[in-house]
Amino acid sequence: RAKDLGKNRCERFDVSMNLAAVRRHAIEQALRQVLEDGEGLALHYQPVFSATDRRMMGAEALLRWTHARLGAIPPLEAVMVAEECGLIVHLGYWVVRTACRDAARWQARAEGPLRVAVNVSARQLGDPQFLERVMDILREEGLPAHLLEIELTETVLMENMDACASTLHRLSQLGVHLAIDDFGTGYSSLAYLRRLPMKRLKIDRSFIRDLPGQEHSRMIVNAIIALSHGLGLAVTAEGVETREQADYLVDAGCDVLQGFAFARPMPVEQFEQMQAAR
Ligand code: C2E
Ligand code: MG
Ligand code: MG
Ligand code: MG
Repeated sequence: RAKDLGKNRCERFDVSMNLAAVRRHAIEQALRQVLEDGEGLALHYQPVFSATDRRMMGAEALLRWTHARLGAIPPLEAVMVAEECGLIVHLGYWVVRTACRDAARWQARAEGPLRVAVNVSARQLGDPQFLERVMDILREEGLPAHLLEIELTETVLMENMDACASTLHRLSQLGVHLAIDDFGTGYSSLAYLRRLPMKRLKIDRSFIRDLPGQEHSRMIVNAIIALSHGLGLAVTAEGVETREQADYLVDAGCDVLQGFAFARPMPVEQFEQMQAAR
């Protein structure tokens, strides 16, 4: 009896210890499957708007994955597991290709072109084939390079700085736009702002949340906008949820607004219906 109890306790201990590993393993297996059949994998698009005239400027592509057994898997978790097990390169190119294919359809609008933004993670950027693969996808899908924007977090940039500087310069020369995502939250030195050909900086939503009431948030946002414009970068505010936040950001000189106040990420069909309705 005592032995059984001990064994049970031990098993329970193991189970809790390994819960994260079990989930990670399940996601890894599911990832291998979904990269074969694409079942339940999609991109949603969140429109972004000009702060000055509220015109739609483009959309950010965001990974959505609903697995039959595991349910909805948050994009950051999917990406983290994919990075760990090396599937990110495959998953990442699926994202780039799908976003470019969708965006290529959006360009017939009279109101002007829409740029699509995709998030790229560290190991994906570190792939020696990255530049070539992205340029192949653009050509195959028929999307002009300047209508693709690549979003990189500060951490991704810092981890790849020396190895990827030439790739990023080349991408930029070929017309692809580069943006810094979640600015102000990562580990960074600001040196890359001088060294890399960035076009846009996206202010993390943690700085937007307490606008316009909190003075520190106002100071930080004003400083980031001044820094960006001083360096010739456009500024997007992420996570704009209220009218008051939007008004503050417009007055502060922010260029582009993104957030639930305007639109949530939506399936591609809905995004295209929205374009047709405008
Ligand atoms: P992110 O690139 O900073 O994307 C913006 C996130 O903020 C999205 O979360 C979006 O749904 C959310 N968001 C937008 N507006 C608002 C708002 O007004 N309020 C709030 N509270 N949230 C807002 P999501 O889709 O859950 O994605 C989370 C993160 O996962 C992304 O952050 C990005 O880092 C990563 N991710 C998503 N898709 C991909 C992908 O295809 N590849 C890679 N490498 N990472 C991705
Ligand atoms: Mg992003
Ligand atoms: Mg972001
Ligand atoms: Mg984020």
